[in-house]
Amino acid sequence: MSKSAPLANIRNIGIMAHIDAGKTTATERILYYTGVSHKMGEVHDGTAQMDYMIQEQERGITITTAATTCKWRGHRINILDTPGHVDFTIEVERALRVLDGAIAIFCGVGGVEPQSETVWRQAEKFHVPKIAFVNKLDRIGSDFFRVCEEIREKFGVRAVPIQLPVGSESDFVGVVDLISMKAIIWDDSSLGASFQETPVPDDLLQIALKYRTELLEAVAEEDDDLMAAYLEGEELDEEVVRKALRKGVLALNIVPVLAGAAFKNKGIQPLLDAVVDYLPGPRDIPPVKGANPRNNREETREAEITEPFTALAFKVLHDPFVGQLCFLRVYSGKVNLGESVLNVTRQKNERLSKILQMHANKRVELKMAQAGDIVAVVGLRVTSTGDTLCVKNHPLLLEGLTFPDPVIHIAIEPKTQADQEKLDGAMENLAREDPSFHVRQDQETGQTIISGMGELHLEIIADRMRRDFNVNANVGKPQVSYKESIGRAIEIEEEYVRQAGNRGMYAKARLLLEPLERGKGFGFESELSAGKLPREFQEALKNGVVESLSVGGLAGYPVMDLKVTLKDAAYHEVDSDEASFRAVANLAMAKGLREADPVLLEPFMSVEIVTPEDFLGDVIADINSRRGSVKGMSIRANARVVDTEAPLAEMFGYSTDLRSLTQGRATYTMHFSQYRVTPAQIREKILTRLRGY
Ligand code: GDP
Repeated sequence: MSKSAPLANIRNIGIMAHIDAGKTTATERILYYTGVSHKMGEVHDGTAQMDYMIQEQERGITITTAATTCKWRGHRINILDTPGHVDFTIEVERALRVLDGAIAIFCGVGGVEPQSETVWRQAEKFHVPKIAFVNKLDRIGSDFFRVCEEIREKFGVRAVPIQLPVGSESDFVGVVDLISMKAIIWDDSSLGASFQETPVPDDLLQIALKYRTELLEAVAEEDDDLMAAYLEGEELDEEVVRKALRKGVLALNIVPVLAGAAFKNKGIQPLLDAVVDYLPGPRDIPPVKGANPRNNREETREAEITEPFTALAFKVLHDPFVGQLCFLRVYSGKVNLGESVLNVTRQKNERLSKILQMHANKRVELKMAQAGDIVAVVGLRVTSTGDTLCVKNHPLLLEGLTFPDPVIHIAIEPKTQADQEKLDGAMENLAREDPSFHVRQDQETGQTIISGMGELHLEIIADRMRRDFNVNANVGKPQVSYKESIGRAIEIEEEYVRQAGNRGMYAKARLLLEPLERGKGFGFESELSAGKLPREFQEALKNGVVESLSVGGLAGYPVMDLKVTLKDAAYHEVDSDEASFRAVANLAMAKGLREADPVLLEPFMSVEIVTPEDFLGDVIADINSRRGSVKGMSIRANARVVDTEAPLAEMFGYSTDLRSLTQGRATYTMHFSQYRVTPAQIREKILTRLRGY
């Protein structure tokens, strides 16, 4: 397995799903049937192979995108396990970025749940071809056809069953393959490793023919010859149908839907067949694009070994045994063990001292990696998630990964000086692994502040700090990360005149500060005519402006959604220097941010709640009492789905509250929506509390 497979025989895939849909169980079964593991791990007893971090096993959730490799029908399948929890959507996104295709797993009872919707849309953004697997068909209340309908409705895609379940709920025993028109019945005594092919049961024949017709109609549209043969009523060859279906999946026209029950060992082998038959190999996707740093022109690289080596570091992981492990997706060319490559993002050379093929927490050493591969490497010193690595004489900068702003933070106080040092080291390592959290030192309190995407995200980081890095520290309560902006435009003119030793300092500037729409970030523009101000002074001034954004004029929170225009400036031939221009920018910004009716911004979250009808009134009343509002409502599988938006400040501990409000029968997902202006009354409360500290 450590030998490189021909490019056409590689599949780089991800498995995406709502939490609890059965992604981990399905992956475990895949590893078992492909012979990678000889024992089935079960999620609920904490032995699942893919969930290898202690925290994951304890919580029964998948946090890191672990890569693993298996072989099926002469193909190498690299699987990236993607987390299902909303706090980790960034993990999903970076996995999608380097994948060629995906399996979307849906629960046969829950159907298309909120998080599967979020992930699906992320996959659409990256044009990832998909196959769907409706899992848990052994459970009471499961309904394959309803889930197919939901996929069609929710995502507006042509979701076409290529199988039908045989039996339902506790009598679910196998599937009808609509292409071969045979039934596959699994043998329970072999843990599903063996199965029988039988004729389609009589009671399913009618419905199977109906769905086969639907399938053939969809597939015929992908291929003119097939269409002609179909219209003539000719017998269609299975292979021809599969090829045309592959075409439709790769063109994102069709999503084939399969049926199964991973936990009951049913449906996994045909799922692997479908990965090989319908999901793309590295050559089926468009060549990777990037900018040549020498001339900033766009260039593409084909997925060929003869092209220059180009890879994206999509994940950095601290490993207790080998140190930093860096996961690479190799897009083109090849690289040998021990070779030195260029980190184009950081303009530093890096040496690959080990190349590993990963199987969850086990590894096989390789001599080289090539186009299409997903490998882990050891020995990189500066590479972070999102960096590009290239052969030195052919640099190309691939588009990095974008991360949303963190909305929540906690303070950490190490117990001793030695712990402080350990903490600094731990944070450096953890930040390279996960660029979606930030670390800073609070100047006033000396505390280390870490900020991230949600309560769970920070909890896991704090946990890893303690366990993986042995830092002994007090961890504070999670706090909302407020921001500031300005309420109106303002023009400020400032002059900076000082005597520094035996020489003077001088700078003058006029700045226009204007509020931008929410989410627009920061913009800087200069209206100075050429020659009005030397370039280095203008740069210094801009740096001074950017620096000033870290402290707002209201309560000292970072400033966002602001445009600054440099309207005018003056300098002195002898006295002016860069420091003077930084200083004048600081002065003008501090004054402007204070006087332009500053506003306090707080993060609002999109919260989707799925509740039984009986509790609908209570759930809505509760959201309203949290300053939230209902944006929409729909019905899903006998439950009500309430789409709401609420301030993060009011949502701490929501899972416990919702549980007690609905006797544990409602579920919800929450992710960052946008920053909004805090109403005056609430703002006063927050500011009073701040001043009180
Ligand atoms: P993940 O969060 O998507 O990775 O889901 P898991 O694989 O951890 O599964 C969540 C729970 O559902 C576990 O308790 C599994 O044992 C259970 N489960 C997974 N697949 C099936 C299935 O096909 N049928 C039934 N009845 N339970 C399943």
